[in-house]
Formats: sequence, structure tokens, C-alpha cells
Amino acid sequence: MTRARMPRAHEVAAARRDPRLLRALGERDLDPAWRTRGLCQSVDPETFFPAPSEAADAAIALCRTCDVQGSCLAWALDVGDCHGVWGATTPRERRAMLVAWRSEAHSSPYDDSSPYDDNSPYDDNRLAELNVLRVLEQVGAASR
Ligand code: SF4
Repeated sequence: MTRARMPRAHEVAAARRDPRLLRALGERDLDPAWRTRGLCQSVDPETFFPAPSEAADAAIALCRTCDVQGSCLAWALDVGDCHGVWGATTPRERRAMLVAWRSEAHSSPYDDSSPYDDNSPYDDNRLAELNVLRVLEQVGAASR
């Protein structure tokens, strides 16, 4: 069994600039009924939960054409869900996004501070973020 490692600072910084995350921030509360408009309703749900050794390309391709991609990813990051494809992201991609999300969703969307910096304004939230990551590590380990 392999434990999921903590996202590195440069991965979190890249996630913070990821267009999918920026779209999710913009569409976070846009459509409470986003699930009713998801394109994935028309395909086998297994497509969105590939085994760790399987590619997620088919699901991600469908997500990229889905009108509610941003709301879907925002939901997944809000609940910290770590399984399956949501909003054109894989669980591995969302680990770094989650750290960025926890800071971005509660502050300026364009603040480049890292929760790993000693001067980070997120020091008060750092323990909570690390606790979230520990849970993600456990979930990631359990799903492998
Ligand atoms: S973005 Fe993907 S997972 Fe989310 S509702 Fe659309 S098709 Fe489904």
C-alpha cells in the first residue's frame, strides 16, 4: 500500500494558477442545481471512477465539454472528496488544488502566498489544512 504524499509548495502554486481552479472559484455558488445539468448523467458512472491503474481520459474529455465543470469542481473541493473525476480533475490533481482552494476560497483569489511560507497569512489555518491533508493521505492510501 502506497501513502499519498503531501503536495509540494510548487505544486500548490501551480494549482493556484490552474484555469480549472480559477473557473471553480468563479462558479462556486453560481448554480445550486448543477448536478441536474452534468453531462455525466448520460454515461456509465464507472467511467468517472477508474481504477488507479486506469486512465481517466474519457471522463476528463467529457468534463471539458460540460457546462457545469466549475461548479462541479468547486463542490468536490468544498467537501474534500478525493475519489473519482470531478470537474475535469483527477484525485491526484485535486490534492494540490485542495490546499490552494482552502486558502483561495477564503481570501483574495489572486494572492500568491503559500501556506508553506513562514510569512504566510494562512498560519492560523495551517493546522486545519494539514489535518485535511492527513485525511486525504488516509483516503488515498485506502483507495490504492
Ligand atoms: S464536470 Fe464532469 S463530473 Fe462534473 S458534472 Fe460535468 S461531466 Fe459530470
